[in-house]
Amino acid sequence: KLIVFEGVEGCGKTTQMQLCTQWLKNINVSVVLTREPGGTELGKHLRQLLLEKSEDKPVGEVTELLLYAADRAQHIEQEIKPNLAAGKYILCDRYTDSTIAYQGYGRGLSMSLINQLNYIATGGLESNLTIWLDVDVEVGLARKRGSEAALDRIEQETIDFHRRVQQGYTELGATYPSRIFRIDGNLSKEVVQKRIQEILINNLLL
Ligand code: C5P
Ligand code: MG
Repeated sequence: KLIVFEGVEGCGKTTQMQLCTQWLKNINVSVVLTREPGGTELGKHLRQLLLEKSEDKPVGEVTELLLYAADRAQHIEQEIKPNLAAGKYILCDRYTDSTIAYQGYGRGLSMSLINQLNYIATGGLESNLTIWLDVDVEVGLARKRGSEAALDRIEQETIDFHRRVQQGYTELGATYPSRIFRIDGNLSKEVVQKRIQEILINNLLL
């Protein structure tokens, strides 16, 4: 099963995915934790290129879209398909909805182009279930700013950019209610984790 985690910056994906992995291991589910961009060796290079700060080295919008697609194509072939074939539960940090939210709603690129590229990269493979951690943009960015790590190229975008991304997730959630499960990411990390576990138990027959 492919289980994807989505949301704006600082929504808590990393923390929740780690807790979720631990929980699944404890109940003897064979689980793989991965992410986009950066779930393969090639992808790690692409992630670095995509996220380094670059005032003097701007990345074109279509170039950016193609690099995320390249990362995804490699990830699907090398990581997702083999692990699905082996019967594993894959927890994946971001997938096709990120491209719709960030490059579609955020950058304003054509949805038909994005959908074509998502299809080319994945061969039409969709997530079985997507957890959307819906946190206020201001709350998420404040979490990022409060942490040690420097903000990456995308995190440094304007607040309006992040609001458009948020709007993208809201519309995706409304369009695919049977696949995308929204959890209020402003809640405590314990409560969020409890909700995730309930969703997986009720919908994946764990
Ligand atoms: O959530 P995480 O920090 O791992 O995501 C990496 C970065 O890549 C984020 O800043 C996210 O905004 C960006 N990203 C993007 N478009 C995608 C996927 C990720 O802008 N399709
Ligand atoms: Mg980030």
